Amino acid sequence: MDKFFDLSGKVAVVTGATGILCSEMARELGRRGAKVAVMGLEDDLSKKIAEEINNEGGTAIGLVCNVLEKESLTSARDAVLDAFGRIDILINGAGGNNKKATTSKDLSFFDIPADALQFVFNLNILGTIMATQVFGEVMTKQGTGSIINISSMNAYRPLTNIVAYSAAKAGINNFTQWMAVHFNQNYSPNIRVNAIAPGFFLTNQNRFLLVDEKTGDHTPRAKQILGHTPMDRYGDPEDLLGTIVFLASEASAFVNGVVIPIDGGFSAYSGV
Ligand code: NAD
Repeated sequence: MDKFFDLSGKVAVVTGATGILCSEMARELGRRGAKVAVMGLEDDLSKKIAEEINNEGGTAIGLVCNVLEKESLTSARDAVLDAFGRIDILINGAGGNNKKATTSKDLSFFDIPADALQFVFNLNILGTIMATQVFGEVMTKQGTGSIINISSMNAYRPLTNIVAYSAAKAGINNFTQWMAVHFNQNYSPNIRVNAIAPGFFLTNQNRFLLVDEKTGDHTPRAKQILGHTPMDRYGDPEDLLGTIVFLASEASAFVNGVVIPIDGGFSAYSGV
């Protein structure tokens, strides 16, 4: 099996790698022998995570990269090419929801400001598309590559309250299929684009929805989520890693344009 899952010598770019889920992905790629470019908005945190990967025996560099700014993306790409010479794996990890684009008893759908909606659309959709333009172009020159986008449960059926985030992640599923076909038809049959759709993980972007600020208890929404998750728990960031290694490696050589749910059964359960 080692031959299938081996990532040694591959070069991986992870955007949003200073976040809770994608920092774990970056660390796992490092453990598997990939050279990792840890990219985040915060330069010091990117460098700190890269240093930790290096201290564990891996090879990593930390870079600042705003996925919504072309110049930031291209200078990060140039730094990766200077350091490692190629790009084999791209995880489009930067993304998330925002309270200002979330309906609540204090904010009706009709009052959500356009700039809040735009912020969430841009971060999730535009950021993924722009990063794929900049890093994916390198893969077209090599003729090989594996891109992994991050979707969500709300891409299949929208979740209440998070209107822009639901629409944006539905767009990620569509873009994943579109991009897979486009690379193959126009550049190379050996560039693959897939996505994972995580279920519910307690992280910075959703804590305000899931944990009662005053008591620290589950909110009613959190209880609903756990009640609809047959495995009866939140995901742990580690739960994503097996699928990430699978999609990044030769083990998934003929898997292209798919979205894999990692959700403890949430999407399978009708609620009855
Ligand atoms: P997180 O908030 O911990 O991490 C998000 C990361 O994105 C941070 O490192 C942040 O610095 C970075 N980021 C924000 N704006 C950026 C920009 N303009 N350019 C570059 N980086 C930027 O969130 P997380 O929960 O680890 O989420 C990671 C991914 O997983 C996101 O795409 C998120 O939508 C998705 N996701 C999360 C869950 C969950 O339950 N937490 C579920 C499904 C999908």
